[in-house]
Amino acid sequence: MIDGKDISKPRLREEFAKNAKEHYKVQLFDDQGFSRHTCKICKKSFWSIVDRDTCEDSSHTEYSFFRDKPRNIGYVEFWKKFADFFKENGHTEISSYPVVSRWRQDLYFTIASIQDFQRIENGKMGFEYNSNPLIVPQMCLRFGDIENVGVTGRHFTSFMMAGQHSFNYPKEGYWKDRTIELNYNFLTKVLGVKKEDLVYNEDVWAMPDFSEFGPSLESFAGGSELVNSVFTQFEYIDGQVKELDGKVVDVGWGFERLLWFYTGHEDAYDAVFDSTIKKLKPKLGVELDTKLFKKFAKVAGELDVDEVKNARQKELQLLKSAGITIEDYEKKIKPSQALYAVLDHTRTLLFGIAYGSLPSNIGGGYNLRIILRRALDFIERYNLGISIQDIAEQQASELHELYPELKDSVKSGDFSEVIEIEKKRYIKNRENSGRVVEAIIERKEKLDAKRLRTLYESDGVNPEFIKSVAAEKNVKLEMPENIYEGIIVGDLVKKEKQKGPEVAVPAGLAETKQLYYDFESDSRSKVLFSKGAYVVLDKTPFYPEGGGQAADQGTLCGMRVIDVQKYNGIIVHTLERQVDGLKEFSHGSVVEAKVDLGIRYRLIAHHTATHLISAAARKIIGKHAWQEGAKKEPDKAHIDVAHFERFSDAQLNAIEDQVNAWLRSGIKVQVKIADRGEAEARYGFEIYQGHGVPSKRMRLVLIESKKGEFIDAEACGGLHAVNAESSVALIKIIDSYRLHDGINRIEFVAGQAALDRFRAVGNTLLQAAQKLNSDQFKIIERITLTEEENKRMKKQLQEFREAMAEQAAKSLAESDKVNQEIDVPRDMLRMIATKIVALNSAAVVLLKNRAGEVVCIAGEKSGADALKFVKENIGARKFVGGGSQKFAEGKIA
Ligand SMILES: [Zn+2]
Ligand SMILES: [Zn+2]
Repeated sequence: MIDGKDISKPRLREEFAKNAKEHYKVQLFDDQGFSRHTCKICKKSFWSIVDRDTCEDSSHTEYSFFRDKPRNIGYVEFWKKFADFFKENGHTEISSYPVVSRWRQDLYFTIASIQDFQRIENGKMGFEYNSNPLIVPQMCLRFGDIENVGVTGRHFTSFMMAGQHSFNYPKEGYWKDRTIELNYNFLTKVLGVKKEDLVYNEDVWAMPDFSEFGPSLESFAGGSELVNSVFTQFEYIDGQVKELDGKVVDVGWGFERLLWFYTGHEDAYDAVFDSTIKKLKPKLGVELDTKLFKKFAKVAGELDVDEVKNARQKELQLLKSAGITIEDYEKKIKPSQALYAVLDHTRTLLFGIAYGSLPSNIGGGYNLRIILRRALDFIERYNLGISIQDIAEQQASELHELYPELKDSVKSGDFSEVIEIEKKRYIKNRENSGRVVEAIIERKEKLDAKRLRTLYESDGVNPEFIKSVAAEKNVKLEMPENIYEGIIVGDLVKKEKQKGPEVAVPAGLAETKQLYYDFESDSRSKVLFSKGAYVVLDKTPFYPEGGGQAADQGTLCGMRVIDVQKYNGIIVHTLERQVDGLKEFSHGSVVEAKVDLGIRYRLIAHHTATHLISAAARKIIGKHAWQEGAKKEPDKAHIDVAHFERFSDAQLNAIEDQVNAWLRSGIKVQVKIADRGEAEARYGFEIYQGHGVPSKRMRLVLIESKKGEFIDAEACGGLHAVNAESSVALIKIIDSYRLHDGINRIEFVAGQAALDRFRAVGNTLLQAAQKLNSDQFKIIERITLTEEENKRMKKQLQEFREAMAEQAAKSLAESDKVNQEIDVPRDMLRMIATKIVALNSAAVVLLKNRAGEVVCIAGEKSGADALKFVKENIGARKFVGGGSQKFAEGKIA
């Protein structure tokens, strides 16, 4: 067993290799005659039937799976082939999860298929699955290699990870022998790899923090890595390595790569986008020179900006070796690369937007905006002649069977609208960028990652735009190799860690029985633990804060409960005072728990109203208007809704009207425990609006009209107006503003809180009316009148002051040296002094008032120094202030 000292990948690799028989050798290797070898180049150990010096890694073996006549098979069709094999071998096929990772709040997007089943609670990873073993066509978004997309022949920002997963071995599921047996059979029988060409490299997989890790076997053939079979076998906690009770097989098949291998195209883009390109060909503004491109594709794989030191030099060197002129490269190959990038980026946008992420300047939306702008640039620069919408429409219909949500997004016009608005924004933003880039090139400015980011963010200048303009002008600018590195947002959401309980709850405490889901508000409960102001009971009617809903309020034994939180199933009540030493709260005693029902009904009304507003927003604003957050408190609530513009008053009114129309004609609220698959099939992924977590059995909150028409369904753990629909009564939006780019907040009140709000507003108006001696509905007219009167009076006052200043100035302008006290405010002093020097430019004027404020102005022809003049004329007293030769102002201390 591995000890817990110095856990690192090289160390684990070494440890596993030492005992390869245990960690890597599977039954199939014996049956088929695989033996273990060491690669002369990378020193990795691998398994192969035939003797070889090197492993099949693409960095030291050329691709050898291209076909003269590539196989013709569609994306969905190939998935069926893949799925059939695994279904015949006992796997259940489940549908893809959304690409926006709402159930994993630490990630913006889904980046791996295993993520579908991972559940993190209190920092610990668990798994939730409804079939075992299973396969899933999970679309994933990753933005780490943007510049490589379209160029290397294998990089994408969206790709399907065809997940093959087996959980909880040895209690359920299969393990290494069966995994590699399936792997071998799929590769040799379905993909058509000759068994002599197949190589398994030994490797190690680990979570970034090594909390879980295990050996992995990478399958290689024809110079391409086909898949990595990961065996999550160990956990590493508190410096200890332990074998996991439930081991997991995680095989994430890179579907694009498989399809590429199977079809034998020169690059993965032609394999994946084959039918899209064929369909769009008549519209294309460029002629694709496939022959020339093929020549280039053979070497393109080596152009990975992440791995190549000097990309430009490498590029030239590759062109030379492939016998392609630079002119041909620029004119015939680059447009193809651009087209491939646009196809990839569009697919990514299509998935992102369909699942409710919008291009913006924050979070995951930021990456969507970058690729959208990159795609727009390419279409323009290379005159591709097609629009993002054209491509999206085509892709949505091709992928419909696997991802039906895409078509909805395109059909509703939603996708198109988002793209158009973003396009307008970008064009406006770019008006300046031409000039900015000219200036950079003229200065030959050195551009580092930070500067590129600033240019992108504040001037909308795309780094590739700078690069291309510089290349056109033959100017060499110093730039980072991977120009997007400083700009792109990583996969992980930077957020605060979930806080743990404020009190150390003893281990082994039973989970608290939740009475609130049965709408109970009173109980006699046993105290299981109490310390300070914290109390844990065996059962409680108190709803703990969660899902944006504030905690219930009320009393335990007559003592006020000020907070309720749930940690790992244990509900902790916080009381207003310490209970140490109180008999009522000693271990085992029974307390009376009483929830304040008035407050609970306010929370319930706000929660059900939130679901209604969310449904109305999607109906009125569009399908992209996903809920991005919500908070329900006793007095008011808010919901954050995705939208690319600020909501107009008309839109807000329409939402408000829709919800109230539902309420007036009557709604029915139900809670149903449903199977995940069933719920998704029936209501779509919109059930995850409120960030509900997909699980085998889900608590669904359903809202229908009284006549049974569907309004909303969401996976939600909150309390709702079940059998208390009338408590929602009505909703009123009280404010709405842009929370940040792409998200609007709507503040609202419902039920009793709405009445309270109207009453408070009404009372304030009434008081104001009384003060203004007016009627409350004529208050605006009254204020307008008062304002006009004020204006008039101000004007009169100003005229009066002018006249007064004029008068005073005239009486003092005779003398060349004025030193006078006039008891008026400082601005008047200034006015008078200004007028005096206007009348007599040879005068130096010092004016002061009784408060000791001083103003001094030296006339043009006086030859005097104002500041000096002040100091000379105030005697021994101190002048606090400042000034110059012409003008001084301040106070005499
Ligand atoms: Zn090697
Ligand atoms: Zn909810």
